[in-house]
Amino acid sequence: MNVVIRVSDETKAKMIDYYKDKRRDKEIPYVVFQAVEEDTVITMYTSGKVMFQGTSADVDADMWRSIDGQSANQEIAQKEKDAKSGKYHNCSSVGSDEVGTGDYFGPIVVTATYVPQEEVPYLEQLGIRDSKKLTDEKILSITKEIAKKIKYRSIILNNTEYNEKYGKDNNMNKIKAILHNKVLYQLMEEEKPKIDYIIVDEFAKENRYYDYIKDSTHIQRGITFMPKAEDQNLAVACASIISRYIFLKEMDKLSDTLHIPLPKGAGPIVDQVGEEIVEKYGSEKLKEVAKLNFLNTGRILKTLII
Ligand code: MG
Repeated sequence: MNVVIRVSDETKAKMIDYYKDKRRDKEIPYVVFQAVEEDTVITMYTSGKVMFQGTSADVDADMWRSIDGQSANQEIAQKEKDAKSGKYHNCSSVGSDEVGTGDYFGPIVVTATYVPQEEVPYLEQLGIRDSKKLTDEKILSITKEIAKKIKYRSIILNNTEYNEKYGKDNNMNKIKAILHNKVLYQLMEEEKPKIDYIIVDEFAKENRYYDYIKDSTHIQRGITFMPKAEDQNLAVACASIISRYIFLKEMDKLSDTLHIPLPKGAGPIVDQVGEEIVEKYGSEKLKEVAKLNFLNTGRILKTLII
């Protein structure tokens, strides 16, 4: 009987240790080890697959499968514990997040907010979460409530500025770093909040982030960079919501001036609307309403030439 399972790196390490005295000597290409225990031959491949051969292959495979399941569950539980422990949740913090970097039309908005610990229960009760998980309607209704209680600073980089200053540079992470630094520094400098953490949703590694902003006049230090920060920290979640609110309002304004409703994202509908804008106002108009370095521009202009 042959049974093949795939295991996590953690389980792999455990298996290597467990079978170390039962290994066969021979080297086989793409095989980490081959071992024999009782009447089962165990072969671990570099791909992460493990094959069990022999009459009780299923018994051995099941044992490792359950160990692997346990360790995977433990890992998930630990992560949940960390998130729930509230280390970054139930605290006073400044956090920042941005919106619009994946949207062809409209500005980039970056916001930093200050959430004092005593406002955590209020924000929890409002149902603050990552803005991507909330509908536009919900964003519009709760932002006013947040803004009443929470100090924040936002920056809007409109399309003309974006295309002039950054279009050639074409490095979205550098743009983000510069804008995050600006709002964080401003909020920290002007409000002098008492905080436990400054948290940024990680889009670049720390060294890279500081390299991007090395020419900025003021640099905000002491930041904790964290993947999926909006799920763990309310200041980042609020920053994400306020940014989206401002972005939606700016998109409304642009749509009104063009008399064409602008879609979000960068998909096929965006290309269609882009063509409509060029037809109506000429290709120069795109500079004012879109991020020209996106691939959409080429598609929009090519379609029209043909
Ligand atoms: Mg983010």
